[in-house]
Amino acid sequence: MVFVLFVVNLTFHFPLSKIAPGAAGGSTICVQDRRTFGIVRAMPIAASTITIHDPPGVEALRKTLRLDPRVIRRVQAALCRAFLGANQALAAVPATERAAFAAAVRCHELTLERRRDSQRDGATKLLFRTADGQTIESVILRIQSGRSSLCVSAQTGCAGGCRFCATGRIQGGRSLSSAEILDQAIWAGELLAAEGRQLRNVVFMGMGEPLRNEEAVGTALDQLRSKHGLHLSDRHLLVSTLGIPDALRRLATRFPRVGFAISLHSARQAIRDDLMPLARHWPLPELRQAIRDVNALQDRPVMIEVLMLDGLTDTAADEEALIAWLQRLRVHVNLIPYNAIEGSDADHQPLRGSSETRIQEFLARLKAAGFETTRRHSLGTDIGAACGQLAEGRLNPDT
Ligand code: SAH
Ligand code: SF4
Repeated sequence: MVFVLFVVNLTFHFPLSKIAPGAAGGSTICVQDRRTFGIVRAMPIAASTITIHDPPGVEALRKTLRLDPRVIRRVQAALCRAFLGANQALAAVPATERAAFAAAVRCHELTLERRRDSQRDGATKLLFRTADGQTIESVILRIQSGRSSLCVSAQTGCAGGCRFCATGRIQGGRSLSSAEILDQAIWAGELLAAEGRQLRNVVFMGMGEPLRNEEAVGTALDQLRSKHGLHLSDRHLLVSTLGIPDALRRLATRFPRVGFAISLHSARQAIRDDLMPLARHWPLPELRQAIRDVNALQDRPVMIEVLMLDGLTDTAADEEALIAWLQRLRVHVNLIPYNAIEGSDADHQPLRGSSETRIQEFLARLKAAGFETTRRHSLGTDIGAACGQLAEGRLNPDT
C-alpha cells in the first residue's frame, strides 16, 4: 500500500516534493505546501495499483492530486486514441504532479516481449507477458487500405479443449482483466500508428473463450467503444465464441450492434461433441435457439464459423445437416481452412484439413442453398499466428 501525504488548508498550488521508495516496492508520495511544508494527513491511494482504465480509481487520484479533469482526458486521448505511448501520454500531466501521477497509475498492463512479422502477408504476432508471468498473444492483420485489424486474447489458455486448437492444449490458464484485454489493442495501436496505419477492427478470436470471461470482455468492449476509450465503431468489433447460450444472449443484449461469431464447426452433434469437449454442455438445439434470440436483438447477421476438416466436417452429410440447421437463421457462414498445430493428440487420429476443391464445393452448395458464405484466408501461417495457432509462448517457448 502506498500513501499520499498531503497538507490540508492549501491555498497555493502545491508541488510534488518527492517520491520516496516505500515498503513492498511501493512509493510514498509527499505533497507539501510551499509555505508550511507541514504534513498533517496521509491519504491512501492505490498507487502503482491503479490502471488508467479504472475510472473510479483514476478519479480518486485526480481529486487527491487536484488535477483538472481535462488532464485525465488528455492522458487517455494520447494513450488510447492518438496511440502516442505512455511517456507522451504522461506529458499531458502538469510537471509538478507528473511524477506522483506516474507512480500511481499504470498506462500499460502488459509487457510487449516480442513481435514476429510475417514475410508473406503483413501479419504481426505480438507476444505479451502479464504481471504474473503468463504469456498471451495477439495478431495484427494489416489490410491495404491502411486500416487494420487486431485479434485479441481473452484468456491465457482455454478450458474449451477443442481438438484442433493449440490454445485448448494449455492447461491452467486464467481469464484476463479488461485492462489486459484493452492493453493489447493499445500496444497494437501504437505500433500501427508509428507506421501511419490505423487500428480499426478488434476481433476476439485470439486465445481463450471470451464468454468464459464475460464480465471483463463486456468492460473491454465498453472501453473499446467509448469516446473516452478507443472510440471504435460497434460495426468493427466481433466476439467469437464456442457458443454459451446464456452468456451470448446477455452480451448481445448489452451490445446489440457488436458482431458475434459462433464456432459451430459441425451441425452433427456427435462430431461436434468429439471435436469440442466443453461445447457438449450446450447441445445444438439450445445453441440454435440462442442464435435466434441474438438475431431478434441485432440488425447484423451472426457469423457461423465452420472449420473444414477432411472427412469430419466436410462430408455430404455435413452439408445437409448444416443447411437444415441454419434454416430461418440470419447468418453469414465463414468456412475456415484448418491450420495445422504442433503436438500430437494420442487418443485420436490426426486431423487433416479439407482440400481446396472440397472447400469450394461446400461453399458453392451453401450459397446455392441461399446462405451468404465466404472462405476465410488466414494470415500469419508462417509465424504461427493463424487461427488456432496461438500458444507459442506456452507450448514452444524457444521459438
Ligand atoms: N474461443 C473462441 C475464440 C477463439 S478461437 C472460439 O472458439 O470461437 C477463434 C477461431 O479460431 C474459432 O473459430 C476457432 O474454432 C478457430 N480455430 C481454432 N483452431 C483452429 C485451427 N487449428 N485452424 C483454423 N481455425 C481454428
Ligand atoms: Fe478455446 Fe476457442 Fe480454442 Fe476451442 S477454439 S479451445 S473454445 S480458444
